[in-house]
Amino acid sequence: MDKEPIHTFLQLLSGTREVRPGVWQACCPAHDDKSPSLSVKETTDRTVLIKCWAGCSAAEIVASVGLELSDLFPKNDRFDHSKIPERERRPWSAIDVLRAVILEVTVIAVIAGKLNNSGLTDEDAKRLVLATQRLFNAASAVGV
Ligand SMILES: [Zn+2]
Repeated sequence: MDKEPIHTFLQLLSGTREVRPGVWQACCPAHDDKSPSLSVKETTDRTVLIKCWAGCSAAEIVASVGLELSDLFPKNDRFDHSKIPERERRPWSAIDVLRAVILEVTVIAVIAGKLNNSGLTDEDAKRLVLATQRLFNAASAVGV
């Protein structure tokens, strides 16, 4: 079972002192810290907030104890991107979308052609051909 981010982080620090519930002071691991200048706070959603008063960045601080910024956030199964397959995580490119649209429009045009005897007006049929042609033109314009 995963530890709370606050526990994982605090155990890697020295000079840790709880100032008040949910708030700690510790020596900053990212610089030669004589007096504790790192403030650590746990939010109500269990995220760990860190602030070095000597000016170290949060990224420098977590890196110096072998963690990543994501380790300061609670693991949430619903939004755990590592559980989503790589294919689905990648957003579709405009080209991919256009390819898919053209394929579907082609299907619609073929099916509509079969309907033509049973009610598609000439105007509808012409407009359908125009719509299909415009999509093909758009596709060839971007090299699909
Ligand atoms: Zn520091």
